[in-house]
Amino acid sequence: MNMQVATSADGLRTLSHFVDGNLRAGASGRFGQVFNPATGQVSARVSFASTQETQMAIAAARKALPSWAATPPVQRARVMFRFKALMEAHIDELAAIITSEHGKVQSDARGEVSRGLEVVEFACGIPHLLKGEFSDDVGRAIDSWSLRQPVGVCAGITPFNFPAMVPLWMFPIALACGNTFVLKPSEKDPSCALRMAQLLSEAGLPAGVFNVVNGDRESVDALLSHPDVAAVSFVGSTPIAQHIYETAARHGKRVQALGGAKNHMVVMPDANPKLVAQALMGAAFGSAGERCMAISVAVAVGNAGDRLVEELRPMIAALKIGNGADSAVEMGPLVTREHMERVRGYIDIGVQEGATLVVDGRSQSVPGHEQGFYLGATLLDHVKTHMRVYKEEIFGPVLAIVRVPDLASALKLIEEHEFGNGTSIYTNDGDAARTFCHQVQAGMVGVNVPIPVPMAFHSFGGWKRSLFGDLHVHGPDGVRFYTRMKTMTARWPTGIRSVAEYVMPVMK
Ligand code: NAD
Repeated sequence: MNMQVATSADGLRTLSHFVDGNLRAGASGRFGQVFNPATGQVSARVSFASTQETQMAIAAARKALPSWAATPPVQRARVMFRFKALMEAHIDELAAIITSEHGKVQSDARGEVSRGLEVVEFACGIPHLLKGEFSDDVGRAIDSWSLRQPVGVCAGITPFNFPAMVPLWMFPIALACGNTFVLKPSEKDPSCALRMAQLLSEAGLPAGVFNVVNGDRESVDALLSHPDVAAVSFVGSTPIAQHIYETAARHGKRVQALGGAKNHMVVMPDANPKLVAQALMGAAFGSAGERCMAISVAVAVGNAGDRLVEELRPMIAALKIGNGADSAVEMGPLVTREHMERVRGYIDIGVQEGATLVVDGRSQSVPGHEQGFYLGATLLDHVKTHMRVYKEEIFGPVLAIVRVPDLASALKLIEEHEFGNGTSIYTNDGDAARTFCHQVQAGMVGVNVPIPVPMAFHSFGGWKRSLFGDLHVHGPDGVRFYTRMKTMTARWPTGIRSVAEYVMPVMK
């Protein structure tokens, strides 16, 4: 499907914006480069929207709002049903787009589309989800009821690592609730958002209800400060999440801003080391570690550490690394050369800081793709809590092992970390698992589940500096975030008293 509106002088595809039901050529004259990370080649350029272009998208969303908000929820749900069917019909195409710009393997890309589609399925139930509350006779002949109404124009600003799933955490619920939407996807992999906008149109979504502006800080700032934007959802790194939260809140908007992570898996001495190692392989190195729920720290309790290293070493050596479009490959490249260099730099830092480099991924190369952005899976052991490789989010295929004497020390470690997104424990001891669930300071917790991403009908979000704002995304919190509550209190003429009252009415 064609998502380009122009070709540059050097023959590159140019990706731009989707506004008011149509692809729109960029007018700012500013562009970013989109790479195929597997080959290292530039595959397209993407227009960066100016403030004025972003304002045009907001104006389109504002114009479409009254009619969409007045569309009965059951009809909005039917658009979601058709969108779900179209997404399913195009899942291989979407996965190929994701792999070509992000680098993750295609089976994983299909997985992220499927997890995103679960939010669409949830949004299909919006007539039920929007049902309010009613109280008969709150006073004599007085009734009261509450309902939820759309908040208005909503904005979503999303990261590179899930170009389908993270936008899908947001807009299906926002739209189903009767809002209109402006999405600013990551400039690193913008095509998927444009394709989803086309599929929404095909599903019957009216023009202007969903818009995509591509760009950088200029377009984000235009969204954060515009009086017609009522709510902002953000997912990305912690410093930007904090900036988004503070700026949007200062402009009077409701905000949910999800930030970075450093997810710990606690490995108790009674856990089966092979099972744990298998779980860690996927959780640490799947999608080249570029997942906000990736496990980047294994906390080995008691004598669990040595056996874990023994199991992991051969598994890492056998990991198939290459072009994600090749179905035999298990781990693809990193998203850009710059990010790959940053992650490689962290391995250097870990060595300088005194961690034991058990497996070194720095010399990884893939024959035929020498310019691709590849790093091998890396294992650092005996990592200490003062080290930068422990404290900072690396966001690459680097797993650190920290050794502690007992569960209480593991819990303390997690509590004292800046981030609190996800965490998990591997054990056969129910008491240890229960204590962990109860006491651990993180928003999403797994027991013998390495990546405890909540299903779409629950809500997703971390604690501490992994989330700024009160409400998590999708599930019940998603409906709360994208609606405002209104409560009516009514009586009819037969019940109206004929005297003026100057005191608070109370039930007698
Ligand atoms: P990022 O913060 O660099 O970018 C996220 C979005 O913000 C992009 O759309 C980008 O264009 C925009 N942006 C970047 N700099 C900006 C600025 N100065 N002002 C305004 N907007 C700006 O994040 P990324 O590198 O795309 O994604 C990786 C990060 O996202 C990791 O930290 C990861 O943990 C986090 N993440 C978190 C979750 C979660 O659920 N908590 C989920 C996915 C990713």
